[in-house]
Amino acid sequence: MRKHAQIVVIGGGVVGCSVIYHLTKLGMKEVVLLERSELTSGSTWHAAGGIHTINGDPNVAKLQKYTIDIYKEIEEISEQEIGLHMTGGVMLAATNDRFDWLKGVHDKGKYLGMDTEIISPTEASKIMPLINSDKFVGALYDPMEGHLDPYGTTWAYAKAAKKQGAEIYQNEKVTNLEIHPNGGWHVVLENEVIHAENVVNAGGLWAREVGRMVGLELPVLAMEHMYLITDDMPEVISFNKENGHQIPQAMDFDGELYLRQEQKGMLMGTYEKNCKPWSPKETPWDFGQDLLPPDLDRISPSLEIGFQHFPSFEKAGIKKVVNGPFTFAPDGNPLIGPVRGLPGFWCACAVMAGFSQGGGVGLALANWIIDGDPGFDVWGMDVSRFGDWATLPYTNLKVRENYSRRFSIRFPNEELSAGRPLKTTPVFDKLKAEGAQMGFSFGLEVPLWFAPNGVKEKFSWYRSTDFDHVARETKNVRNNLGLIEISNFAKYFVDGVDAEKCLDRIFASRIPKPGKMKLSPMLNNNGKILGDFTISNLGNNKYFIAGSGIAEEFHMRWFEENINEFRNVEIKSHGTNLLGFSIAGPKSRKLLEKVTDSDVTNDGFKFMDIKEINIGMAQCIVGRVSYTGDLGYEIWMKADYQNYVYDILIKEGKEFGIKLFGIRALNSLRLEKNYGSWAREYRPIYGPLEAELSRFIDLDKETNFIGKNAAIKEKELGGDLRLRTFLVEAINADVIGDEPIWFKDKVRGWVTSGGYAHNVGVSVAMGYVPNEIADEFKGWTIEILGERCSATLQTDPLFDPSGKRMRG
Ligand SMILES: Cc1cc2nc3c(=O)[nH]c(=O)nc-3n(C[C@H](O)[C@H](O)[C@H](O)COP(=O)(O)OP(=O)(O)OC[C@H]3O[C@@H](n4cnc5c(N)ncnc54)[C@H](O)[C@@H]3O)c2cc1C
Repeated sequence: MRKHAQIVVIGGGVVGCSVIYHLTKLGMKEVVLLERSELTSGSTWHAAGGIHTINGDPNVAKLQKYTIDIYKEIEEISEQEIGLHMTGGVMLAATNDRFDWLKGVHDKGKYLGMDTEIISPTEASKIMPLINSDKFVGALYDPMEGHLDPYGTTWAYAKAAKKQGAEIYQNEKVTNLEIHPNGGWHVVLENEVIHAENVVNAGGLWAREVGRMVGLELPVLAMEHMYLITDDMPEVISFNKENGHQIPQAMDFDGELYLRQEQKGMLMGTYEKNCKPWSPKETPWDFGQDLLPPDLDRISPSLEIGFQHFPSFEKAGIKKVVNGPFTFAPDGNPLIGPVRGLPGFWCACAVMAGFSQGGGVGLALANWIIDGDPGFDVWGMDVSRFGDWATLPYTNLKVRENYSRRFSIRFPNEELSAGRPLKTTPVFDKLKAEGAQMGFSFGLEVPLWFAPNGVKEKFSWYRSTDFDHVARETKNVRNNLGLIEISNFAKYFVDGVDAEKCLDRIFASRIPKPGKMKLSPMLNNNGKILGDFTISNLGNNKYFIAGSGIAEEFHMRWFEENINEFRNVEIKSHGTNLLGFSIAGPKSRKLLEKVTDSDVTNDGFKFMDIKEINIGMAQCIVGRVSYTGDLGYEIWMKADYQNYVYDILIKEGKEFGIKLFGIRALNSLRLEKNYGSWAREYRPIYGPLEAELSRFIDLDKETNFIGKNAAIKEKELGGDLRLRTFLVEAINADVIGDEPIWFKDKVRGWVTSGGYAHNVGVSVAMGYVPNEIADEFKGWTIEILGERCSATLQTDPLFDPSGKRMRG
């Protein structure tokens, strides 16, 4: 065995084998895979082998499509059969809510180039004759579904990778990982040690144990999962005879079942509500190609529905019941990418649908290791989307919730309750007493909106019970004065004599002068947007930066990777030690004047100024900026002072009509200003020109900031896309994101976010469209729940286009 490798991949399941296939395909040398037993000895060998492209997140759907598209290639290169049957499949809806969801999936698929079709239950039962069409209201047909042989597929990746130069060692268990003094890792085996520049954790069922070798507690949990295989069924045999191919598969969301043909019978699996974690704390090393005892009682409620929805099953004998474990992250998406603070340590774990996602995960990770960029939008799968709050007990609660809801609808206004509340700020109880309806943001409870006594939120695809109340909150901001808690923003402090130089390199704008703030995008090496921030210069080489709260770990990873070249600088995240409120609206200055003795007149405290001032007796950092686009201030204080500052603002704000508002009102207000936000309008697949952020980027500054050359190139070439705002003639449902944007008779773009702009009384959508048609005013429609709604381009902000209110 070699003593040195560029990359050691730990784990020979479908994911590890896909990773080495893609690394070697991209030309990487010295690629080694270590498997403690034989390939497939985790969850891979007993998988049901079902594959499909559909996913609620279009970026994950893209990777799933890539995965399915690659199977022919690996079969050819490896000359290993993978037993692929592309049968197509129907996704069934037994309720109107579910049918609306399927219509949404179908809409999203249009700009991803997916060829799905909305069909009636009768049409569904013609395609898949085991269906009892009386039980359903509609369905979606997807030709890109099928199944394969998990063992053959894993070996096909492995053999193809070997042909491309990968080395695979079976029966080699990695027992420890130690930091190598010259960089990289000592990979310790029972009888060998390899020096690896990079290590990939593809340990599947043992991903937690491999993580623990480097002091990492990954948020991963295995769940027991059961499927049964029937004896031969006459209906299946006659279908095969008549049609010359296998019976298409079916996904029955309301029965929580999936079905596909297995030999001359059927395979039926279920995600039962009464689910069970497996080995919740530690995975035994002696578990291999083993199965768990079946527990038919646990899945019998689903089976009973299955017998009604697919009557021929009731007569079919059961040949075999498989119960095996496989892993999930708290939100059900994979955990991939580099880990903050552990250079050269990568994750490819928690891939719960290895045969639908493994190819895409392998490609993204290989790109990332080789080029420093995954090449896809993998935000939804990035390991950094979880912070240290995602402990083992949290993961246990969340994974069980996720598993039991795998086939449940999650409405756009629905907040999930497991593992909450976890982190709360000192004013939590006060906000709750005012009717705050809470959401979850990177571990923290945040107010979404305020419900009067007795008003309950109805979960829906359509405008709901919060609509009028959110409208009232937004109107009070525009007419009087609103207060919102903004503790969920990420807050960083940067300090040291090299601070300015360092920030100048990392951020694309000029660095503000002392006492000033600046909006600044951050780009990656390819000139794509990694984040948008407000940088404040507090003087004496001290800076305060506010950014997106959900990306705190993601951004800290990037900062830490890129401050190394500067000796005298420190970046720290303040998490929930520093908390904040924003006051906004025409009377916000009056309130500020009343609670501080500092000069906060328009001349003494200009737009984008920042000062350390007292609010009552409490020392705070106050910046004159507001995401509402109105006159407003952000007030930051140490956590100990939050209650005090809240009380004084509410008490003294009474005479100005102060009212609390939440994130939903903030969203409505920012839409009126065409302001984008991270993870929606701003993601690492868009350039600053495309995202209309050029005015915040200084291509003339001398410093060669990260992404500068690519941004210059984007400017020269013009960029492919443009972010645009549309007014939509929506009737009773607004966009939620990912809907297709039609221009004339073709889908040409996609929605990133939107909602109802209550002050103006219009439905708004933001989204990307091709540059060449981006300035067309008419000819647009946006599809909401299967209905194409007319839309017009809105270039100026709906509110205060000249910015007089926020500057005045
Ligand atoms: C009953 C069931 C049905 C399923 N059906 C489907 C389906 O229809 N479609 C689908 O896409 N997915 C399905 N899955 C999920 C699928 O099996 C997983 O997504 C996939 O197997 C994950 O692969 P992996 O490579 O990440 O992990 P694993 O298969 O667990 O592989 C990890 C490998 O790492 C090795 N390893 C761990 N630690 C070490 C170490 N320290 N040193 C060396 N080697 C190590 C292990 O021996 C193992 O071989 C199903 C799973 C189950 C249980």
